[in-house]
Amino acid sequence: MGNANNQAGRSASKQARLDVDGLSWGPRPGQHIIANMSLTVAAGERLAIIGPNGAGKSTLLRCLYRAVRPARGSVRLDGIDLWSISPREVAKRIAVVLQETPADFPFSVRDVVMMGRIPHRKGLSRWSERDHDLTAMALDELELRHLSRRQFSCLSGGEKQRVLIARAVVQEPEIIILDEPTNHLDIRHQLEILALLKGLGPTIVMTLHDINLAADFATKVAIIQSGRIAGHGSPQEALTAQRISAAFDVTACAHRVVDAEPSRFTFSLI
Ligand code: ADP
Ligand code: MG
Repeated sequence: MGNANNQAGRSASKQARLDVDGLSWGPRPGQHIIANMSLTVAAGERLAIIGPNGAGKSTLLRCLYRAVRPARGSVRLDGIDLWSISPREVAKRIAVVLQETPADFPFSVRDVVMMGRIPHRKGLSRWSERDHDLTAMALDELELRHLSRRQFSCLSGGEKQRVLIARAVVQEPEIIILDEPTNHLDIRHQLEILALLKGLGPTIVMTLHDINLAADFATKVAIIQSGRIAGHGSPQEALTAQRISAAFDVTACAHRVVDAEPSRFTFSLI
């Protein structure tokens, strides 16, 4: 997928750095679902956040795209606190791909992709020529052109995921945040989506369920356990059998195929 010509009209990809410092959040004062999290994602890196169900991964992401205000600590985008920037500015700079999709509305694939331009639109003006061009390029780049008139809600899971990533791409963001982008996809489509994300310009922050895929596709991994960061670093550093066993309450066994590469893991119940 992807084609160098497609890059022609898009601004050179900007990549932002993200600094999370002492971050806590909870639904009520004093009740923290995530607590005292600190991590850094350098410009252009791909961070995979892994951890068991209910560990606080989606809650962390919500803080990173400014959906909820931290109870304590901060999230900084290129050094600037997210809450000192307007929501519109954040929407221009951070694209979000979530599981929930606009299933009940009769939007075409093209309409959904075009929505990525909304933060850049001036008032109620019509779509600009550039909006149309960027949408056409993203449809090409993600091999969606043949589906552009189809209704989004009728697509397969893998196709929907490509459409949502295309919508993120036309937004020209500095960071793309994705919550379990490979959920419900077969292994081929999981690999395709991850390879695609690897080829995009922006900094990537995503939650992933598959630890071995995280080791393959991320430059950094954070392991979340009970609302805290249990390990953070390169896949080689962060992914140890001991940490994974503790976080997921299983016996994880590490296998290193090539010395310089991160381990692969097999799992069994304790
Ligand atoms: P993960 O994405 O790792 O599966 P979540 O971040 O969705 O976990 O949730 C972590 C925990 O916090 C879960 O137990 C969830 O039920 C709880 N939780 C999340 N959001 C809220 C909320 N707004 N109010 C109360 N509890 C919440
Ligand atoms: Mg989640």
